[in-house]
Amino acid sequence: MTSENAIGKAADDEDPRRYDEVLDEAVEIAKRWLDGVFDRPIPPSAGIEQVKSALGLELSVHGDDPRDVIDRLAAEVEPGIMAMQSPRFYGWVIGGTYPAALAADWLVSTWDQNTAMRNVTPGVVAVEELAGEWVADLLGLPSGAGVGFVTGATMANFVGMSAGRQRVLAQAGWDVNRDGLSGGPKVRFIVGAERHGSVDIAGRYLGLGAPIVIDADDQGRIVVDRLRDVLSSENGPAVVCLQAGNLHSGAFDDFDAAIAVAHEAGAWVHIDGAFGLWAGATPALRHLTRGYEAADSWATDGHKTLNVPYDCGIAIVSSADAVHEAFGMRASYLQPSETGTDPHERVPELSRRARGVPLWAALSTLGRLGVEQLIDGLAANAAALASGLAELDGVEILNDVVYTQVCMAMPDDTRTIAVGQRLRDDGLVLASPSRWRDREVLRFSVSNWATDAADVAATVEAVGRVIAALR
Ligand SMILES: *Cc1c(COP(=O)(O)O)cnc(C)c1O
Repeated sequence: MTSENAIGKAADDEDPRRYDEVLDEAVEIAKRWLDGVFDRPIPPSAGIEQVKSALGLELSVHGDDPRDVIDRLAAEVEPGIMAMQSPRFYGWVIGGTYPAALAADWLVSTWDQNTAMRNVTPGVVAVEELAGEWVADLLGLPSGAGVGFVTGATMANFVGMSAGRQRVLAQAGWDVNRDGLSGGPKVRFIVGAERHGSVDIAGRYLGLGAPIVIDADDQGRIVVDRLRDVLSSENGPAVVCLQAGNLHSGAFDDFDAAIAVAHEAGAWVHIDGAFGLWAGATPALRHLTRGYEAADSWATDGHKTLNVPYDCGIAIVSSADAVHEAFGMRASYLQPSETGTDPHERVPELSRRARGVPLWAALSTLGRLGVEQLIDGLAANAAALASGLAELDGVEILNDVVYTQVCMAMPDDTRTIAVGQRLRDDGLVLASPSRWRDREVLRFSVSNWATDAADVAATVEAVGRVIAALR
């Protein structure tokens, strides 16, 4: 079969520029994977060395046929794939993938838009602007906030804290963009004892050094009285990082009180809400986030609770000017927008994929009520899981289950570790071994849209089976 393309060249099946054969192959492989992913054993059966040698260690000299490359990729890598989309995968904090979000992600790669500039890629910038406005609206955060799409909450923390560093130094009469950090006033970087490690990393990128650590209570929430003591012990610029959603307990800091104390001292308040910020999108759970809208910046993920593919982090800064002061850049060759700030002026990257598009697709298929049902459903499944596990012989639930996280422990650490190992070998359920409040724990994060009551029941049964086998 031949046809003519736009410049009159004949295109036939041998044309190396044809995409359809290799894409058809990939679609078939993807469908097969997705058909089986809910039922296959969750842990990978092959390790890194095995996959490497199956693929072939040497780069070929002349290259291979595209279809053969894709076939080989699927055949040799699949044994090394962790079934993270499984509805009984509860490891770390990891969402699955909504069908429309995955399909939109394919289109993002297909269109291959460098999503830096409004004038250049209006289609995907329009989609991302809508997604950003919808997210702020769903979460009840200020309209007109600067919303940027980054790789994940780690970079979203970096963005919020960057805007904060710039602003608090400016208020102290120091222009960090011009003069750098050395010789300037010290920025106090203040966190709770149970913040996520990515907050420390962001502080490191920003030259803030190690944080001043405030005690946490029994659920991991920052102790506001201690925060007040530390803030009032010294004057000067400060960035305070609070948390919506503790990894182990799911707990939320007392934003009303903590933000008031921090703002009283002139500090910038950033909230790491990688998965927890979404509690603010539903009336049933919104009490957990009470007062959080008064913060100055927020970090969250699309790829966790919202179940879009990697990578999708969202950085929201209340003052669009503040984030622009930190990341704004103009260059003659970029054709800057006259009608609004460009997407790259709210994030660290210049070239990037249109990672807000799958988020738009997920939100569009869910609608406002669907978002509420998603978040309420995750929390309800977590509560059901916790009460089912609590019935099992020797199991103790260590946290107050207020959101999506469940931490269980056996009467002694050795037994908890053994249950975790057996459960992983069993393959039906995956939970994260961790350590919390001086105990070994098994942590379940209920973050997958596809988890239902039958999965919860099967999970409890699997843990029960493992415990019985160890007795
Ligand atoms: C996952 C997580 C992060 C880091 O997010 P990434 O998307 O992995 O960069 C930060 N904070 C909390 C509370 C998290 O759960």
